[in-house]
Amino acid sequence: MSKSTSSSAKTYTWVTVWYCDNCRDGPHTKLIVDYCPLCGHRRCPYCPRDEIKRYDNR
Ligand SMILES: [Zn+2]
Ligand SMILES: [Zn+2]
Repeated sequence: MSKSTSSSAKTYTWVTVWYCDNCRDGPHTKLIVDYCPLCGHRRCPYCPRDEIKRYDNR
């Protein structure tokens, strides 16, 4: 019989963010904003992207 281990793992989701290649502002969540709020540059293919972990607090 195997005991059930109590899992205390935090749940997180990967969120794709992007940085403005014009003024280096960021990270911006593309789901929320599609243009840079600082300089008004719209997200283009040259803007670097990254993925971060976002923890969900329950
Ligand atoms: Zn910008
Ligand atoms: Zn750009």
